[in-house]
Amino acid sequence: MPHEPDHSTPVDIQRRLEDLQSSISECELKANRAPGSVSLLAVSKTKPVELIQAAYAAGQRRFGENYAQELESKAQALAELKIEWHFIGPLQSNKTKLVASYADWVHSIDRFKLAQRLSDQRPANLPPVQLCLQVNIDNEPSKAGASIEKLPELAQAMMKLPNVQLRGLMCIPKPHQDPIEQREPFARLREALEQLNKQGLELDTLSMGMSGDYAEAITQGATIIRVGTAIFGARR
Ligand SMILES: *Cc1c(COP(=O)(O)O)cnc(C)c1O
Repeated sequence: MPHEPDHSTPVDIQRRLEDLQSSISECELKANRAPGSVSLLAVSKTKPVELIQAAYAAGQRRFGENYAQELESKAQALAELKIEWHFIGPLQSNKTKLVASYADWVHSIDRFKLAQRLSDQRPANLPPVQLCLQVNIDNEPSKAGASIEKLPELAQAMMKLPNVQLRGLMCIPKPHQDPIEQREPFARLREALEQLNKQGLELDTLSMGMSGDYAEAITQGATIIRVGTAIFGARR
């Protein structure tokens, strides 16, 4: 029962990470992409620190969290490990200080104000926070994210902030049954990144693809895939 909520053991985690790494390598090869060009972010939201430690013991170093307080408590509990923490959840203004203190990356920026607060609140002893702009790629009213049209202005404004560094774009597209259709929103995100780079930006990150659609995302140029369920099992 690989996807029973919260019954994963360290051995399960290690095996799923190995399976995932070989699947990623296969996808890279099929898409004519360089080996190692796709980085795996292990999404550990709602999962206990013991499972993060199990993934770490298996060699995983990048972890993603969705809730600011949960990020804080896990980062504190695991402070002696060399973990790179990515914040990928909806970000409210009153939580930016926590996130600025613990996250190395934030993928869910869709307003200038959030980037500005992170820059202002970043502790002086830490390097700039690495940012992705979240794009509402299917224009869904229920979803967070900036529209593609707003990206140039947002990106230019963010370039001037001292303690954040814009690295690229992130999206969470609608799920499709047909894998070919599933590629379309990922292709649009890649084109949006290429457009920004033509305007003089130097962005290198496409954060796209989750447990159900990472293979399609890799065909379209994903550089970070964010995978939770396929590593840690289903969430409650
Ligand atoms: C939860 C989450 C994921 C991981 O989703 P899975 O389907 O469990 O792989 C990826 N990205 C974001 C933004 C998430 O909130």
